[in-house]
Amino acid sequence: DEKVLQVQNLTKYFNLGKGRILQAVNDVTFHIYKGETFGLVGESGCGKSTIGRTIMGLYERTAGEVIYDGDNVHELDEKGKFKLRRKMQMIFQDPYASLNPRSTVKEVISEPMEVHKMHTSKKEQLEMVYQLLEEVGLNRDHANRYPHEFSGGQRQRIGIARSLALRPNFIIADEPISALDVSVQAQVVNLLKELQNDKGLTFLFIAHDLSMVKQISDRIGVMYLGNMVELTTSEDLYKDPLHPYTQALLSAIPIPDPDVEESRERIILQGELPSPINPPSGCVFRTRCPFAMDICAQEKPEWQEVEENHFVACHLYNDKHKNKKQQETIVN
Ligand code: SF4
Ligand code: MG
Repeated sequence: DEKVLQVQNLTKYFNLGKGRILQAVNDVTFHIYKGETFGLVGESGCGKSTIGRTIMGLYERTAGEVIYDGDNVHELDEKGKFKLRRKMQMIFQDPYASLNPRSTVKEVISEPMEVHKMHTSKKEQLEMVYQLLEEVGLNRDHANRYPHEFSGGQRQRIGIARSLALRPNFIIADEPISALDVSVQAQVVNLLKELQNDKGLTFLFIAHDLSMVKQISDRIGVMYLGNMVELTTSEDLYKDPLHPYTQALLSAIPIPDPDVEESRERIILQGELPSPINPPSGCVFRTRCPFAMDICAQEKPEWQEVEENHFVACHLYNDKHKNKKQQETIVN
């Protein structure tokens, strides 16, 4: 499988002044395969959106690398960054906020095409607007109306049409359905899946709701306080969550699959979410972890692949990891 995006030890701090540093993203590593949907999940403020924006090059990184399609995003010159926009686009949570209320739908969708000189004539451009409207389940009669005349779900469709205007390959969807009614959420998710199949798109799908991410994603990364704590396939994360935080998140979701019915007790996390300005020493989750040990305050757990394609950062799996390493050594 071709890795279209590689995020290597990505760190993003914000200097808030007076010696206060917000550690939004800390040493995060993952990759995304061409054509897959990678879900990024965690409660608000855990750094998901910051990762999305740093991947887009909208934020400079503090450390680490983002490699997209062979390019180091943060080392591109202005021309390179401009070109990157054609390949990589973002969909935002609140489509209304991201659409100019004084522009017609036609203007909203054609603006990026004009900026990037995608079409040689106005007529060709307008045809493309009509085509995009149809692709997202709207029609050409909508072109001359204004975003505020539409429902939330329709506005998100307009936002999606705009994000597709430059024919990108990779889309970062930052909480694209969180602001929508539950009944509309599934429709927008289905639209994204259809577009993915038709166009071979790759998605980074950001959300705080694990049940939604699970439905749409091939693999999932779980974030807590700026750190990625677990990463595996959607299926394995659901069946065999390893990190105590993931276990707590999953315990809050009702289980529709009778095979998994075995006692999954509801884990209620104690304590408050610590501040990313002053995160706990060692494991960032230790102040709320039901299994915290002495070592958890002293050492930051390593990001390790404890089973094939299953990564976790937690001291509970140190032995497992060591045993596995030892076995490998013996075999060799
Ligand atoms: Fe809990 Fe320790 Fe694992 Fe952190 S490293 S999740 S505190 S057991
Ligand atoms: Mg966010």
